[in-house]
Amino acid sequence: MKIPYVNLNLQWQNEKKTLLKLIDKSLGAENWVGGKSVEIFESKIAKFCKTKYSAALNSGTDALTLALHLLGVRKGDEVITTPNTFIATVSVIVHLGAKPVFADVLRDQSMDPQKLEKVITKKTKAIIPVYLSGRISNMFKINKIAKKHKIPVVEDAAQAIGSKYFKKPSGSIGDIGCFSAHPLKNLNAIGDSGFITTNNKLIYEKIVELRNHGMVKRDRINNFGYVSRMDNLQATVLNFRLKNLDKIIVKRRKNFENYKKYLNRNFVYFPDEEKHQYNSYHTFVVQVKKRDKLKKYLKTKNIETAIHYPIPIHLQPASKYLGYKKGDFKSAEEQSKKILTLPINQFLKKSEIKYISEKVNYFYEKNL
Ligand SMILES: *Cc1c(COP(=O)(O)O)cnc(C)c1O
Repeated sequence: MKIPYVNLNLQWQNEKKTLLKLIDKSLGAENWVGGKSVEIFESKIAKFCKTKYSAALNSGTDALTLALHLLGVRKGDEVITTPNTFIATVSVIVHLGAKPVFADVLRDQSMDPQKLEKVITKKTKAIIPVYLSGRISNMFKINKIAKKHKIPVVEDAAQAIGSKYFKKPSGSIGDIGCFSAHPLKNLNAIGDSGFITTNNKLIYEKIVELRNHGMVKRDRINNFGYVSRMDNLQATVLNFRLKNLDKIIVKRRKNFENYKKYLNRNFVYFPDEEKHQYNSYHTFVVQVKKRDKLKKYLKTKNIETAIHYPIPIHLQPASKYLGYKKGDFKSAEEQSKKILTLPINQFLKKSEIKYISEKVNYFYEKNL
């Protein structure tokens, strides 16, 4: 038995017959950049996320860039996020000339609202909570703090399409929701793709302008923009795959329930799902002792695992100029040594979850 962490090739085999026809139809009848499929995708996603607007983009990274750009983030400003996120959340802040400021995380890896409030300054232009693994942050408190200081909230929901918080879908909780449809995300394109969601018409209109070179009409440029549009081809694929998304999330949630049943929680920590949460389980991250040794052991048992992410961003060589040091964000640093991502993709069988769990339990029972 070999258990892969992801299985894109199997996904393609399952959908190839239908999808190739749809791709052929779209390429033969629509524009390739911008087209009907893109508009259809936007209205479908807005409905899915229960927001008034959605704009299709070329990546989650550019979704974050455009969001911060239109909020006026520039040189000398500060943007607050967490140090344990994917690098892109922080790169976009840097590329706009602003300073990334970090708030440490809670045990469940989400932004600690108390730490957030402590690092807000007059220069803070935006707050980016990251819904790591598909778990929505404590948005009740984060929104309250943001409102008090009049700072907009950009949700990094790249890992959290379909997750809910008090029944509200991700992307509908802050001012702007930023999503990725990278091949490794739960709703995946066949290349890079992303999108934003918002209830604010002005934000939506500015994104549409910025993603297309800043063009208002063909020949009028009010602001210099980017080229960040979603290809029609990707929209065609996403429209097809969106139909299946709810089912994929239900399957991943079932996988989580099975892990809960089989893993010995004396050895393995992972946060429970609280009543107000509905998590998409983009990843299943556990926290364990002897993480590296366990990872190696599982590999010998043909179980592929990953680490999201082994080095907190404030300790990356690229961050050196920011002047952070070891010990600045203790939770994120401690967790970076304990976290291990176990396979949870929708193609796994119950027997495979059981097998993985038994191997993990055995490793600790036998003190290997
Ligand atoms: C994937 C991801 C992004 C970036 O999305 P891309 O589509 O790959 O550009 C940003 N933030 C987080 C937390 C992610 O997981």
